[in-house]
Amino acid sequence: MGSTYRGRIAPTPTGYLHLGHARTFWIAMERAREAGGQLIYRDEDLDPQRCKPDFSDGAIEDLRWFGCDWHEGPDRGGPTGPYKQSERQDMFLDAWKHLKSAGFIYPCNKSRKDVAHATQAPHMDDDGAEQIYPENWRPPIGTGKHAHSPGDTNWRFRVPDYLKVDFDDGRLGPCSFECLRDFGDFLVWRRDGVPAYELAVVVDDAAMKISEVVRGEDLLISTARQLLIYKALGLQPPEFYHTPLLCDTSGQRLAKRNRSLSLRELREAGHEPEALRQSEDWWSGLDD
Ligand code: GLU
Repeated sequence: MGSTYRGRIAPTPTGYLHLGHARTFWIAMERAREAGGQLIYRDEDLDPQRCKPDFSDGAIEDLRWFGCDWHEGPDRGGPTGPYKQSERQDMFLDAWKHLKSAGFIYPCNKSRKDVAHATQAPHMDDDGAEQIYPENWRPPIGTGKHAHSPGDTNWRFRVPDYLKVDFDDGRLGPCSFECLRDFGDFLVWRRDGVPAYELAVVVDDAAMKISEVVRGEDLLISTARQLLIYKALGLQPPEFYHTPLLCDTSGQRLAKRNRSLSLRELREAGHEPEALRQSEDWWSGLDD
């Protein structure tokens, strides 16, 4: 009998990938391989303003150079495609309908800056601070229930008051986050007509039958949010495994703005993937 393990790698094409992405994706690939399972590549090109086809193509090219491989993806096809989020709008809309009819979400025009990063994975600020949506901005329960379409407004998920969301992370062990303390009502739909990251990733991970999500530990709180969406949609959540983040020599975590550490530049500078995977940087934080 074949393995039922299905993992995924899910880059956002807003820039060239750096070594930190490669390390997370490498761990995802190894875990799929060790389990004798499948790895799915999903292009998270939701944000029409910030995602660029060149970065989508570049990510595939750079990861292939690095030695990553996958069984299903935009370049390979497969049974659970399409593998670009920009082509999966119907599924996201169905989920929006379900959530609003059941009263889990409400229209909201309060957010301003949030829009800028709403379809991005909402990585925490460096100091770990998380902005909690003010409770007194919430509209009455049931607001928006009869809307026919999301329209040109944001929609937020109403988190259950002070509920503790617990899960067992494959690397970190038991994790617990409390609604309204660790995170508040969060965006599920943006006023420019696309789903926010939290909704899209749940819909896709479920539809692509992902059994384990491997991603950076900056997304731990997102896992708590996403578990609420799974429950609201009546979907079975996957397992989670959060990887440590790769830091540069000054202890700052790598971001796409660190161009000198993009895979592309490393390749152009003549580095070999094998050697990069044996470097001290690569191993930092992995044995904690
Ligand atoms: N696309 C997200 C990112 O690049 C990752 C999402 C996820 O792994 O859930 O940060």
